[in-house]
Amino acid sequence: MSGVVAGATVSGKDRCERFSRWSEPNRMPTALVIAAHPDDGEFGCAGYAAQLANRGWDVYFLVVTNGAKGTEDRSMTRERLIALRREEQREACRRLGAKEAFFLEREDGELVYDRSLLEEVVRYIRRLRPDTVLTHDPTDIIIRDSFINHPDHRATGTAALDAVYPTARDHLNFPHHVEEGLEPHKVREVLLWNTNHPNFDVDIGELVDLKIHALSAHVSQFGKQDDFAAFSRERWKNEDGRYLERFRRIEMGF
Ligand SMILES: [Zn+2]
Repeated sequence: MSGVVAGATVSGKDRCERFSRWSEPNRMPTALVIAAHPDDGEFGCAGYAAQLANRGWDVYFLVVTNGAKGTEDRSMTRERLIALRREEQREACRRLGAKEAFFLEREDGELVYDRSLLEEVVRYIRRLRPDTVLTHDPTDIIIRDSFINHPDHRATGTAALDAVYPTARDHLNFPHHVEEGLEPHKVREVLLWNTNHPNFDVDIGELVDLKIHALSAHVSQFGKQDDFAAFSRERWKNEDGRYLERFRRIEMGF
């Protein structure tokens, strides 16, 4: 289990044993990345997602908004941008070894957390049955005193957490899902990125180039930035020189 820096209480060996215990019989462990915009998942967890895919996990991405605000190009139409960003997300997933990307097509910049958003996220959790969900930490508006947590990120993270617990778990939440063949599902672990409270670090030293390669698939966002690779490399470099993705990890007890 190379590459994982153990958190305070969780050794790499323990995690391997736990994961093998978690997954249902005849089924690979599964991770679901729930991201507000195309490219958020790559910023947040591309290194760890690639590491899991390398280990044989089924990794899926669920992108909540359509990314329709993400351009400074005045000649770009909304429709072209949405289509482009979907394709860029799919290409990024291919580069990481993720199996598939799904899109909820909510309007970029206007995401509101409500019952319908919660139901859509619950539907994907019940359908894909992830052991691990990775998403935005929605609990703070200011992160590390250095940037504002985008409202779409907060809405997405809140919906994801509420979907994990308790909504996807209990069959009387959205009971018509059972009639559609979607059984309740218990997620075992949540990892939150862009957090003020990291307790689980993943060493992505061997994967930082792949992370940048996946981010570079988002040509509409970074295509004109010559220094993007160098900038990205510095962004994930820790004070001790290692490249880390840092998460707030919650192991679901019940
Ligand atoms: Zn975003």
